[in-house]
Amino acid sequence: MTTVDTPPTTLSDPTTFKQRWVDGLCAAYSRTVRKAPDAFGVLSNASPRPGKVAVIVGGGCGHYPAFAGLVGPGLADAAVVGDVFTSPSAEQAYRTAKAVDGGAGVVFAYGNYAGDVMHFGLAGRRLAAEGIEARQMIVTDDVASAPAERAADRRGVAGDFFVFKVLGAAAERGDDLDAVMAAGERANEVTRTFGAAFDGCTLPGQTDPLFTVAPGSVELGLGIHGEPGMRTAAAMDAYELADALVDQLLPQVPRIGDGRVAVLLNGLGSTTYEDLFVTYGRVHARLLAAGLTPYRPEVGEFVTSMDMAGLSLTLMPLDDELAALYDAPCETPGFRLPAGGWLASGEVSDAASLTLNVSDSTSSIPALEDTDPDDGGIAAAALTAALAAVTEHEDELGRLDAVAADGDHGQGIVRGMRAAVAAARTAGVSGDTARDVGTALLAAGTALADAAGGASGALFGLLLTETGGRLQPRGDTPVTTAALADAVSAAQAAVTELGGAHPGDKTMVDALDAFTTTLRDRNDDDLTTAWRRAADQARTAAERTADLVPAVGRAARLGDRGRGSADPGATSLGLMLAAAGEEITTRCGKDTR
Ligand code: ADP
Ligand code: MG
Repeated sequence: MTTVDTPPTTLSDPTTFKQRWVDGLCAAYSRTVRKAPDAFGVLSNASPRPGKVAVIVGGGCGHYPAFAGLVGPGLADAAVVGDVFTSPSAEQAYRTAKAVDGGAGVVFAYGNYAGDVMHFGLAGRRLAAEGIEARQMIVTDDVASAPAERAADRRGVAGDFFVFKVLGAAAERGDDLDAVMAAGERANEVTRTFGAAFDGCTLPGQTDPLFTVAPGSVELGLGIHGEPGMRTAAAMDAYELADALVDQLLPQVPRIGDGRVAVLLNGLGSTTYEDLFVTYGRVHARLLAAGLTPYRPEVGEFVTSMDMAGLSLTLMPLDDELAALYDAPCETPGFRLPAGGWLASGEVSDAASLTLNVSDSTSSIPALEDTDPDDGGIAAAALTAALAAVTEHEDELGRLDAVAADGDHGQGIVRGMRAAVAAARTAGVSGDTARDVGTALLAAGTALADAAGGASGALFGLLLTETGGRLQPRGDTPVTTAALADAVSAAQAAVTELGGAHPGDKTMVDALDAFTTTLRDRNDDDLTTAWRRAADQARTAAERTADLVPAVGRAARLGDRGRGSADPGATSLGLMLAAAGEEITTRCGKDTR
């Protein structure tokens, strides 16, 4: 039962949270949206529409009404729904896109985060291989996250809303794929956001906030996943804060058109509308004083961050073209512009067709509890040991990720590894030949990427599938140190190609590179000995990432402030390789170090 002193966001079990809130959303707004039949996605009742470009938005959840609440005629055709603060997987993006493709191409639109870029990019390639043209619209509006010279590295925050609105309107009026993209790129080019937070947010199932803001202070430039801000300032009143936001943005907003500017004052989750309006009053006056005309301003919640206290200001200067698209009608659960009858009243989709069954799964892999621990051969056993290791350290991995980023690595890697183990156990193999191991790892990697989402889901999944893909064709031969070294080296190259990280960039690649290099150097050792030495080196490399400054991924924006604590992905990989090594040694009975 609810108790008054329990923060509302902790009410939900994290494992069912995503399914249950999407079920509820689709029950409440069945006049506008429906669940995707076999994906964690929400589809517009008006889609697919033959000949219309499909706009598919997405990202992790915890940002309502972004992203699922922005689906409906005139805005997005669909949203792909990831776990809290975690990008959805390529598999889910692909399936959602297939459900709304109208034959005129699809645009994936999302904020600039490594996990989203990788998963939507992979989904786009898969669609292209089937002859469906897919484009990527990556929103980069947050001025706090990178300087103007590196505008393309900026995060996407509340500006998502303006860019999605423009894309959706362009697609709705019948623009072709190139024209829809051009409109979206134009909107993104001129849109700027700056935000501030007064208090942290709490992930479902947690009692402690992901981060805190020191009492009596405000974090300026904080990200929507709790990424640390640009600077901490003494607490200010609403007018002072309005001034700080306007002062930061005005010099950076391009002057186009006749001075009209679309304004979004966005609440992050627990700031009252009244406080937003107090702040808006000052913003409005300041814009007028600067010679700008606030045009159909919006004050409210558009891109939230669970229950974070704070707000952000977004400005999109308008020319006639952008104004027309911004003004075009739409109807979605989270935002409506007068429509004049998009959906005739009473046209409500059949509520009885909704599945409210939370065991309703979008995956064919059984739950871990329903699998046999003796199945899947040595690969499944090693993965099981690795799962135990990350499960034991789940909280610590989350804390490491919260230092510089969004705090979800513990939950994400455990969720991914549980699916990986279940997939390996049900891959139909039982031995330790290269084919058995390869087959199990291929299944495990695909399942991991889908279940974990996020940057680490894409990269750890790829590591497993590439390793498996190299081993499997070796058939009935044993997995030697040389064969494994060759496979893991190829997998490392694929991980670097997808993620762009090299050794020294403070990512899981540091641990992986130490593992791969040692395996190659120890070519003549038997596998158990070589593995354990290599895993030791991986763990050492993971620990040493504490001295490095992050260069890629979410943490990179922190710069020097990221120094001092180890990279979460490197840490989890080191832990898993060590645990897997012990399991392999126990099974093979050899360690001749
Ligand atoms: P997300 O960053 O999407 O929240 P996780 O928190 O699960 O994903 O994983 C974060 C880890 O993923 C980082 O600690 C790092 O090791 C790894 N990572 C993130 N981006 C990259 C990248 N581009 N290349 C290699 N590893 C990366
Ligand atoms: Mg993370």
